[in-house]
Amino acid sequence: MTDKIYDGVGRRTVLAGAGVGFALASAKAVAAPTMPAAAPIDEGSSTGGHISFPPIHADTERPDGTPPNQDPPARRVGFAIVGLGRLALENILPAFAQCKHARPVALVSGDPEKLQTVAAQYGIAPSACYDYAGFDRIRDDAAIEAVYIVLPNALHHDAVVRAARAGKHVLCEKPMATSPAEARSMVEACAKAGKRLMIAYRCQYEINNRELSKRARAGEFGQIQLIDAINTQNQGDPAQWRQKKALAGGGSLPDVGLYCLNTTRALLGEEPTEVQATIYSPSGDPRFAEVESTVSFTLRFPSGAVANCASSYSAHEHRNLRVIGTKAVGEIENAFGYEGQKLHISKREGKAESDSALSFGQKNQFSLEIDHMAECVRSGARPRTPGEEGLQDQVIMAAIYESARTGRPVKLAAETQVDAFRGPMPADA
Ligand code: NDP
Repeated sequence: MTDKIYDGVGRRTVLAGAGVGFALASAKAVAAPTMPAAAPIDEGSSTGGHISFPPIHADTERPDGTPPNQDPPARRVGFAIVGLGRLALENILPAFAQCKHARPVALVSGDPEKLQTVAAQYGIAPSACYDYAGFDRIRDDAAIEAVYIVLPNALHHDAVVRAARAGKHVLCEKPMATSPAEARSMVEACAKAGKRLMIAYRCQYEINNRELSKRARAGEFGQIQLIDAINTQNQGDPAQWRQKKALAGGGSLPDVGLYCLNTTRALLGEEPTEVQATIYSPSGDPRFAEVESTVSFTLRFPSGAVANCASSYSAHEHRNLRVIGTKAVGEIENAFGYEGQKLHISKREGKAESDSALSFGQKNQFSLEIDHMAECVRSGARPRTPGEEGLQDQVIMAAIYESARTGRPVKLAAETQVDAFRGPMPADA
């Protein structure tokens, strides 16, 4: 047994040996062997409110992480969470525990009992709990600096506009809206209020997706020829809002197909010039009385890259992304999932074809995304995924639906600027 104690003048003394605790308690003198003082490498250092430790492994090993060095609670950006559904309760609220710059300070819900239960779980005062009718009162709550909208898609527009009018910055779940017109109005409302609007495209903050994009843009795969993006899941009960057009705006496309679209655009930094699409829903299936199941769409990019994307609400879960260039292939297994991403790179190595699996460890992508929003609120920087990024996806999704309806390709406005709708990339997490 080894105990560390501090003596009266704050100097660290280490006592070793069985029975030391008992000996101290009974004030009996014990001669203990003196241990070497802690080396700076083990103590770490504290500078400007940040604690750091030098690496302890050889540089042949993956670099060690660093302590999170989170801001003290009073300095973190306070968020109100609007809509206490599955995503809010299973992912977003728990993710705040790993945030460095953000904390939940208020809740908005239509269910008083749930509101009370969740508030108690997260230590949120009853006075910081709102229903939808009283939501505008957040204006008077100075602790709320940003609002995170986690409602069904068709309710995003109204909630974002109300939050902006209440003088709050807004983080809004994807899909941003149910039409380009709604999305435009949300961008305008936030601009008019002088508040930041960010769309919660978590994959753009996820480390494997970022790495693949970095390597693709640096030319590691050669000239990108093809991208293959699939995001599917098999829906259950047709009573849920996702199967109702008025609340969801569409079926698999705005829900899961959007990941294929947004990730592909973000990976290349280019905007598609043309889209062609096909939609299929199993007939007689009550889940698809109002919204579509399977959507297959092809995007053409100015560099010549072609992306084949597919989403489905009636196929088993599959969420892979593959980039095929002239020199190499990069692939992320479970690219659009909450966790479990695996990045593979295949290329020629001498006479062999090598297939390497790269491991960067896991980081909670919801925490990364929320912290990025908090940093933008503090610094005034434009988010990496602002409202304009969401608007562009709404424009392309409308073109996808048009192409499926008419059976023809649809041209999109040419855009030559790289990352035309994005803010600066956050520093490496
Ligand atoms: P849920 O159905 O689980 O929760 C939605 C919540 O919204 C409800 O629990 C309810 O909360 C509130 N609500 C208010 N009005 C209605 C209404 N008319 N019908 C249904 N719910 C209502 O949905 P999710 O949490 O799965 O999805 C919410 C949003 O998050 C969607 O935009 C979705 O696309 C997005 N999402 C994003 C994911 C991501 O990975 N980024 C993953 C999953 C979803 P209350 O009772 O508190 O009022």
